[in-house]
Amino acid sequence: METGFYIQWHITDLCNLRCRHCYQDRFAGGDDLDWPGLKGVADNLLATFRGWGQKACIHLTGGEPLLKPALWPLLEYLNLQAEVEELGIITNGLLLERGTLERLSAVEKIPEGQDFAGWRGCAGQRLHPVRGDF
Ligand code: SF4
Repeated sequence: METGFYIQWHITDLCNLRCRHCYQDRFAGGDDLDWPGLKGVADNLLATFRGWGQKACIHLTGGEPLLKPALWPLLEYLNLQAEVEELGIITNGLLLERGTLERLSAVEKIPEGQDFAGWRGCAGQRLHPVRGDF
């Protein structure tokens, strides 16, 4: 089974920032899929990869994926699937506390090199001109 796809999966509109450059115009999360809905999408993706004999790298994003509780069962589920080569999250970093980092570190398919900690230094004043007033 070869790695053929990189998927960036937008799992929520929720976000704790309002960056000036953001492509979103909704942040409420009311149209987000719940865990059963996300699992249904995951199963469809996995069946497709299986049929093609391909593996995928899947990065979960939003919005801010750490605001969505269903992120955790989704990561745990995808981590167990043979069709998933690698997992990651794309986050603004504001919620990367020690407990969250430890939880992410326990997901084997998130590479050790994913530099969550590096974002901590960008979480304050330095990004303020980019994010805008919020
Ligand atoms: S952190 Fe990302 S999703 Fe949130 S407002 Fe900024 S660009 Fe948009």
